[in-house]
Formats: sequence, C-alpha cells, structure tokens
Amino acid sequence: MLKLYNTLSKKLEVIEKKNHINLYTCGPTVYNYAHIGNLRSYIMADLLYRALKYEGYKPRWVMNITDIDDKTIKGAIAKFGSAATVENLREFTKFYLDEFLKDLGEVNVSKDEITFIRVTDVMAQIQQFIMDLIDKGYAYKADDGSTYFSIEKYQKDFGDYGVLVGEKFIEGKKVGARVAVDEYEKENLSDFALWKSHSLNDANIFWDHPVLGKGRPGWHIECSVINKIGFKGEPTDIHTGGVDLIFPHHTNEIAQSQALIGKGNFVHHWFHSEHLLVDGKKMAKSAGNFFVLKDLKHPFAAWSLRYAFLQSHYRSQQNFTKDSLDASGNRIAGLINYMKEPHNSEFVADTKSLDEDLNVPKAISGSNEAFVFSELLGAKLPDLEEIPEEIDRLIKLRLAARNEKDFKKSDELRKQIEALGYELMDTPDGQKVRKKM
Ligand code: AMP
Ligand code: ZN
Repeated sequence: MLKLYNTLSKKLEVIEKKNHINLYTCGPTVYNYAHIGNLRSYIMADLLYRALKYEGYKPRWVMNITDIDDKTIKGAIAKFGSAATVENLREFTKFYLDEFLKDLGEVNVSKDEITFIRVTDVMAQIQQFIMDLIDKGYAYKADDGSTYFSIEKYQKDFGDYGVLVGEKFIEGKKVGARVAVDEYEKENLSDFALWKSHSLNDANIFWDHPVLGKGRPGWHIECSVINKIGFKGEPTDIHTGGVDLIFPHHTNEIAQSQALIGKGNFVHHWFHSEHLLVDGKKMAKSAGNFFVLKDLKHPFAAWSLRYAFLQSHYRSQQNFTKDSLDASGNRIAGLINYMKEPHNSEFVADTKSLDEDLNVPKAISGSNEAFVFSELLGAKLPDLEEIPEEIDRLIKLRLAARNEKDFKKSDELRKQIEALGYELMDTPDGQKVRKKM
C-alpha cells in the first residue's frame, strides 16, 4: 500500500486500492521549450505513476496541454503577424508540444501511457462549464465583457476557499475585486476570469459564444474541464503539479469544480513537487536562470538528469549544478558495468521506502538492481558502446580541424572529448572513440 503526503489534509494518507486510479497532471504551456525544472515535476509525477503500477493500482494518467494563454498568443503573433488566427496559434503551439513530447521521451517519462488533451480541442466543453457556473450563480459577466468566478458566492456556500494553502487562508482578506491576469499573489485575492473578452492584443485569436461573447478561456478553468472530460465525470484520485500551482491555479480549480459537483467530489489527493533551484533561486523562464535539455551539452544529459533527480525527495527543493549532472553520469556508468556481472540479480530493492511517501532517494541508496532502475525508477540504462550526439559532433569538428591542418583546434577538441569521459584514438582507419572505464 502506497502512502502519500496530501497537500489538502497535510498528512500522509494511504492510497486505497480500487478498480483504477485517476491520475491528473497539470501540463505545460507550450510557447517555448520546457526547462529542466518543469521536467523535474513531470519526472516526479512519472515516479508516482510507476510506483502506482508496481503496487498494482492500475493508474489512468491524463495531462492537459495549455495551448492558449497570453504567452502562446504573443508567440503566435510574433511568428504569424498581427492578423494571426486560431489556426496559426495551433501551428505555433504544435511545434513546442512536439518538442515537449520528445523531451518527455528523452527523460523516460511514460508518455505513451498519458492521455494528453489540448485546451483548444475542448473549447465547447469549457464554454458549457462556464455557462453551468453562471446558471448556478457562481459566475457573472462584468462590464468589461469578461466572465468572472465569484469567490464571495462560493465562500458563502462552501466556506473552504483556499484551504489547499491553509485553513485560515481567507481570514482577513477582502473579496470582491477582480483580476484579469492568470497569475497573481495571495495578497491580491480576487474574482478571476473564466472567459476573457477579446482584445486588440489578441489578433484574430478568439472563440465566439452567444452569451459569453468573443473571447478565450482563463487558465484555471481548463483543468477543471479536462479532469471532468479525462475521467468521464469520475472524481480525480490524485492530482499533481509543482508547488507554485497550489495558489492560485489549484485553489481555483477546486472552487470551480466543487461549485458544480459538490464538496469533496473533485480531487481526493493533492501531490505537489518542490522546485528545482539554480544558485538558491527557483529556475524560471521569467528569471532567465533556466536550462533546457538540448542546451546541456552533456554526453548523457537526459538519463544523467533523471538519475540526478532521483537523488532528492519530491517534496525537497533541489539545487541544480553541472557537477551534480556529471556525478550522476559517472555513477550510472559504474552501475551499468556492475550490473553486467552475474551477482547483481541477488540485490533486493528497497521498495518499502517507496511506499512511504515515495522515498526514492532511500530506495536507491542501497540498491543496484537493474529492474528497480530501469522499470520502477525509469532511469535509462544506455548502451555504453553507443556514441552520444554531443561526442559525435565534437569528433566531426575535430576531423574538419585536422583536414584544415588546424592542430591547435584539433588538440582543444580532443581535450573537450576527454573531459566528457571519452578516449580518442587516431588509427589507420581514422579517429576512434570509446567510453573511458
Ligand atoms: P508551466 O509550463 O509554467 O505551467 O509549468 C509546468 C510545470 O512545471 C508546473 O507543474 C510547474 O509547477 C512546474 N515548475 C515550474 N518551475 C519549476 C521549477 N523551477 N522546478 C520544478 N518544477 C517547476
Ligand atoms: Zn492545471
């Protein structure tokens, strides 16, 4: 039986066994490449998915793809001009969606088992959900033409707005103001937009509706709707995301959904993973302190990264350094060689630690069992005979330098190749490389 910390109850709770488990993960906004902090949150969700499967829970995993918001509209306009349409937006976001799927594959997230739902594919259901909120009195159209969620009305009927943050969240806060942007601080508690009316900054990107008018959905509503569609109206057993989503995103998801389906019927268990840091600060696109997978210039970036992420518990912050990536690479190389020996199958995995709030660092610390690494923890075990792309690139550059008799450059490139753990030999048949042991 798996026990997990629930952000809502703030306790460890047993995940009950039943026919299947509905698992939902807030997906990416596809306006750019995912950074490795984003990838950490999906790897943590994947560890949970694998642990659920291993324990016989039969999880069904759904993830939304945010392909409409301010940032994606801006990107589509930058690419297609100020007359950009919904079709243009979909083309712009499809590129980053495909890149995201590639990245998930690289870091071995079980992507083929996820049902992905793009927001722009479910616009009619989003509009209907908002109409239902209006009918029940939880949403209203304001003078600015946008439709907002009424926190006051919700609070009057349910009295639990913000409990995901803490019991006393709403105490002393003024309700009734309105906010049109999707991201805001706890201090600025406000009615949030469910449907934003079309503005000049949106080019020709809008959906029309007889009551809501021309516009597009706010950010939070999509996840309420996609949970409902993805699990065909069943409650969500476990909902995952990074800790930054607790407020406002998940807080607002709860309010919107409970307003329609009743208290306690939306999500049973909230699973939040902590942030990846750089120099003590959250890795974020807005802070400019981020790396994406393809920039890591490390021979085994993807699996070293996954292995590095296994070293910290999902509820602990983790600081990213290039050194930790190298150390992981070396450790994995050692493990692969070790596992070629016959005695390794005798090692018993410490899967009990996984049952205690997914304590992966503890589970792997005493274990060298191939199954644990490859299946349960999804740490890829690459073929050491295979030459990684980055090494191949450097070899080609070195060959070109030698052909141009630029021996200084050729020597520098040799050093770079060696620093990455590869040995270079000049043989009568040309350059040969192999992994240093
Ligand atoms: P976004 O594409 O910004 O909606 O973020 C996608 C996911 O990445 C969300 O679950 C975020 O909570 C998560 N996330 C964002 N920044 C970080 C970070 N520095 N470390 C870990 N997870 C993050
Ligand atoms: Zn979400």
